[in-house]
Amino acid sequence: MSARNGKVAPAAFPPPVDSPEEFVKSGLDPEDELIEVGVAIVGGGTAGLACANRLLQLLSDDPETLERLGEVPVAVIEKAKTCGGHNLSGAVMRPGPLEELFGELTREQWREEGFAFGEVKKEAIYLLPNGRTKLRIPPPPPQRNHGNEVISVSALARYQQRRAEEAGAYILTETSATKLIVQDGRVVGVRSGDKGRGKDGEPLGNFEPGTDIKAQATVLAEGCWGSITGAAIREFDLADGREPQVWELGVKEVWKVAKPLDRVIHTLAGWPLRIPAKYHQIGGSWIYPMKDEKTGEDLVSIGFVIDLDYADATTSAHDLLQQFKTHPLVRDILAGGERVAWGAKAIPAGGYWAMPKLTMPGALLVGDSGGMVNLAALKGVHYAIKSGMLAAESIYAALRRGESSFESYEEAVEESIIGKDLWEQRNTRQPFSKGLILGGPLINLMIATKGRFPGGRWPLHRNDAQPMFVGPAKDNYPKPDGKYIFDKLSSVFISGNATRDDAPNHIRIQKHVPREIAETWRWMCPAGVYEIPDDAPEHGEVDVIVNYTNCVQCGAITAKGGRLTTPEGGDGPLYQVL
Ligand SMILES: Cc1cc2nc3c(=O)[nH]c(=O)nc-3n(C[C@H](O)[C@H](O)[C@H](O)COP(=O)(O)OP(=O)(O)OC[C@H]3O[C@@H](n4cnc5c(N)ncnc54)[C@H](O)[C@@H]3O)c2cc1C
Ligand code: SF4
Repeated sequence: MSARNGKVAPAAFPPPVDSPEEFVKSGLDPEDELIEVGVAIVGGGTAGLACANRLLQLLSDDPETLERLGEVPVAVIEKAKTCGGHNLSGAVMRPGPLEELFGELTREQWREEGFAFGEVKKEAIYLLPNGRTKLRIPPPPPQRNHGNEVISVSALARYQQRRAEEAGAYILTETSATKLIVQDGRVVGVRSGDKGRGKDGEPLGNFEPGTDIKAQATVLAEGCWGSITGAAIREFDLADGREPQVWELGVKEVWKVAKPLDRVIHTLAGWPLRIPAKYHQIGGSWIYPMKDEKTGEDLVSIGFVIDLDYADATTSAHDLLQQFKTHPLVRDILAGGERVAWGAKAIPAGGYWAMPKLTMPGALLVGDSGGMVNLAALKGVHYAIKSGMLAAESIYAALRRGESSFESYEEAVEESIIGKDLWEQRNTRQPFSKGLILGGPLINLMIATKGRFPGGRWPLHRNDAQPMFVGPAKDNYPKPDGKYIFDKLSSVFISGNATRDDAPNHIRIQKHVPREIAETWRWMCPAGVYEIPDDAPEHGEVDVIVNYTNCVQCGAITAKGGRLTTPEGGDGPLYQVL
């Protein structure tokens, strides 16, 4: 490899994008050219839909405030074909917030509705010293799952969508919000994206221009990475004085299995990762049992998560999951089964210190948009629901009093389980940057003392500042056989991805970069979007081909030197049980 191997970081090749310029619009169009709603919620995932449902519950007893919100009191703008289409999680959920949101529903009814699959009664955690053996350890406190519920967030979002629509929400699916509209220093709504543009941005025969959606309150519930959220954070300096956000990437499969799994399983660090600090591969896996109440089928959710701070450019979450499946622990569970679903998604992993300020004039951030994930526990669904509910309550209280500040939401989050849990885990992730061998004992101390020792504020380091080298991770990935081990393209195929072949490119990267950076993108992308031409030089700068229509919008590229911008509404995967 070249002399630069291990010396170039993706941050030196920033994506060609000017976030405030491209994603913030100054002022609204004339009244007769816009749509007016009461509250605009960008993102119909768990957080956005919890906000819509809670708001409509509160408004149902208050006709006066409801009337003040106009003909469309609550609108949810979702880019997927249906709510849930772009949502993916492990997903073992802490049940409290969902029980609070739909108090009349029992957990038995969750299962009848098809989004929940059973309570966790047994669990096991393993360290994998190598590809053959396993070592069972007692679950550390954040990973105890007894009493939690295995769910599908895509199915939960479909259920929440139905409930919100029944309660009077207007849900605009296949619609991307592409700009935040700011007027006199206040967010006054969002602009929906154009539809029907060609590869070079030219209008096609079916072209439909976007529209300004004016709102009294705007809720940004875009999930892990959102173009509008990013622009809002910059426009209103919401990340000032915070640590930089960092990310992990998870790849998931759902299998129909011959015999039911009776426990939730996690593996930590260890095989197939290279844990010495040089490679900086940190991650883990999950295997969860699912039971489809309607068909009676036994299913298993299996996934691998990798910290995007790694240094070996040939690290691939997709291939690590395939490799993980070759361990006898996994083979025994999946034997005789069939893969029925696949997907990938990034997770905000910085925790407490990386959370931006959650309010700005006219708007709020909820769920993953606000960085509300407890990485030590791999839990964010219950925070997404709780933050959506708290946002609804702050908005309702302000509108009822005829006020326009939603600042009370900051304190409500801080005082809720979200603020309390994340404060306790505030320094749990940072020691990973020392590698697992040095960092592991520190992490255990942080967990045991609930963040009090070694205390202070531990810094986070940007994922794109990590120098990359072309290392040996790729040498051990198993060859696809199309039955048990899969390649990236067959995985994308079953994700239901339906991006138009002639859609404009929504991925921004520099297209002529050192080989180390190009290899990073090629291996990292779970959907095989980035290609290096066969005749490219072995060293130095190479061209990168971007097959953006394969993109499943996981968001990982944003962590490693590129940018996922909002594609045309309706494009991307259509997840059903992830
Ligand atoms: C691999 C993985 C495993 C996980 N495992 C667990 C687990 O076991 N337990 C747990 O509790 N948590 C887990 N989490 C975390 C949890 O899934 C998330 O914290 C939670 O789902 C976030 O919900 P959200 O509504 O904030 O975001 P999302 O679910 O991402 O929803 C955001 C929505 O906004 C839409 N959107 C985004 N931008 C726009 C736009 N501009 N215009 C229109 N629509 C837009 C998206 O299409 C999407 O539907 C996991 C996450 C991952 C990725
Ligand atoms: S191109 Fe799409 S699927 Fe690939 S890493 Fe980027 S966001 Fe994820």
